[in-house]
Amino acid sequence: MSVIRLRRFVRAVPRRVREARMFARAMTSPHHPILAQIVPVRRCNLSCTYCNEFDRVSPPVPTAEMLQRIDHLHRLGTTIITLSGGEPMLHPDLDRLIERIRQRGAIATLITNGYFLTPDRIRRLNRAGLDYLQISIDNVQPDDVSKKSLRVLDRKLEWLAAHAEFGVTINSVLGADLANPEDALTVSRRARALGFASTVGVLHDQHGQLKPLGPRHQAILAEILKVENSLFSFAHFDRFQNNLARGLPNQWHCGAGGRFLYICEDGLVHYCSQQRGTPAIPLADYTPAHLRAEGARPKECAPFCTISCVNQTAMLDEFRTRPRETLDEIIARRMQRDPGFQPPPLVNALAWMFLHPGRREFFGKVALRVLRAAPDARTGR
Ligand code: SF4
Ligand code: SF4
Repeated sequence: MSVIRLRRFVRAVPRRVREARMFARAMTSPHHPILAQIVPVRRCNLSCTYCNEFDRVSPPVPTAEMLQRIDHLHRLGTTIITLSGGEPMLHPDLDRLIERIRQRGAIATLITNGYFLTPDRIRRLNRAGLDYLQISIDNVQPDDVSKKSLRVLDRKLEWLAAHAEFGVTINSVLGADLANPEDALTVSRRARALGFASTVGVLHDQHGQLKPLGPRHQAILAEILKVENSLFSFAHFDRFQNNLARGLPNQWHCGAGGRFLYICEDGLVHYCSQQRGTPAIPLADYTPAHLRAEGARPKECAPFCTISCVNQTAMLDEFRTRPRETLDEIIARRMQRDPGFQPPPLVNALAWMFLHPGRREFFGKVALRVLRAAPDARTGR
């Protein structure tokens, strides 16, 4: 085993324990934020024509402000904190922000366009304690719409494969605005060949809503979902995407404002990147009462929403409220694609322990104690 593989393995074991703790908390406490996305700088070095999340001028948020915001997210019980932008690697103290997220016990993730990655920068991200990095790649060759292109970024991906001790996810993108939908499949295959996780996103309009896909795009989406072979990959929780790809609405509750928070550069909480302005409450004033009220509020934009990270938090809540049915649905969808598929023994063992009414309580208590994931007795979070 190469040194980097060994290091990656050594880092992955405690990370999996922390993820199991995050999952256990999400299963026991319905009111803390599972995921918060926080913007350390709105500026971006690129200008993808479909994007409404960047400008060319904003300065970085002062580091002291960012640290306070991370601390407040911790007080609210947030389990995953994602740094996004703009381009978050333009923040001069990015590593300190990652370190603070880790010190506060959350999983630290970074969404970047990848342009600033070098072997040395990747090693510094390792040292800061980054858990996951995600890059969206829009096409193979750069064009007028996007320069987040495989041809430009492939060297960066090779550096990540050689040096990153954190998990790497490559998100390919399908959308009516992108010229060559087959590019998404090329990107996905390259990601898997380099040992990365691969997801696929559906391009949305300026309100986070669906732009319907044609039959060619739908066929490619089905191919990409075959490339990712992990049972619990979010790429496989494809009910959302399959419906959206066919122009059909999804029936789900969007828990944004409670289970998911978006913190802009001004320190205001919004439902998501595409619903900025609502509720726009300063994070410093955001309380557990806000989490409950805003998380429970129905969102008119939910049926055609393509914001996958919020869809994913809803998936965890679905698992909490209907565990047996949700697991059966995931397995059934996987078997539709791959009729010979058998659930791994670990999944069967966990289902035996946690999904049987007579055993669930006992094993649940043991797991919460072992993972130190029991909700705070005072706050319930
Ligand atoms: S790289 Fe990301 S933030 Fe920058 S313009 Fe493109 S999509 Fe927007
Ligand atoms: S449904 Fe939720 S995540 Fe989707 S656009 Fe609306 S507020 Fe944002």
